[in-house]
Amino acid sequence: MGRIADNINMIQAEKAEAAKRAGRDPNEILLCAVTKTHTAEEINEAIKAGVTDIGENRVQEIVEKYEKVDKVNWHMIGHLQTNKVKYIIDKVCMIHSVDSLKLAKEIDRRSRENGINMDILIEVNAAGDKAKFGVDTESARSLAEDILANCENTRIKGLMTIAPYVENAEDVRPFFRRMRELYDELSQIEHPNLDFRYLSMGMSNDRIVAVEEGSTIIRVGTAIFGERS
Ligand SMILES: *Cc1c(COP(=O)(O)O)cnc(C)c1O
Repeated sequence: MGRIADNINMIQAEKAEAAKRAGRDPNEILLCAVTKTHTAEEINEAIKAGVTDIGENRVQEIVEKYEKVDKVNWHMIGHLQTNKVKYIIDKVCMIHSVDSLKLAKEIDRRSRENGINMDILIEVNAAGDKAKFGVDTESARSLAEDILANCENTRIKGLMTIAPYVENAEDVRPFFRRMRELYDELSQIEHPNLDFRYLSMGMSNDRIVAVEEGSTIIRVGTAIFGERS
């Protein structure tokens, strides 16, 4: 078995252990392999090793690799400019990075044109980090309500966050815990276009803590493919 397959097996095993420690079912946590900067060959190797979902953070890379990669679910996980929605609307299964009504409306318009409904997550800047995208925790509810009031072909499926980078993953546990509380709170909203299923949090360095705190999608790049150049 190759290095990529070995890494994936290790990550799945660690995920299962963390889930069990937290009294959770490991099968309710999806591994989204983050493939940015990596080649179609590497991605196909990951798919052969069992990966069903991949995440990219740039529109350009999705468009370039789309035809070269075997059948898989594509997730848009990076900041998305309104004028680029049209390039990926027919390629991705979910957009994790919705942080404005303007962006949601464009996703909605393009979804309608394509005769589809798009699943989205609201990106929350849990640590209030000025350098990061996402709405702050206090504004997440009003953004969700605005989207529900204005969009018909968009389904809000949950929340996403990128934790601050820290040496010791324990340091981000409070942010993940706050995200879980916010998730539980907003999942109570009753609306046909809101159906919370996904809490997308945890990357290579903090994925174990994220699973312990309730993540249902971990987005892992470096731990699978190695350092990006
Ligand atoms: C790059 C990226 C990841 C993966 O980061 P790693 O540290 O390589 O696991 C996860 N989420 C987003 C939004 C990213 O841009």
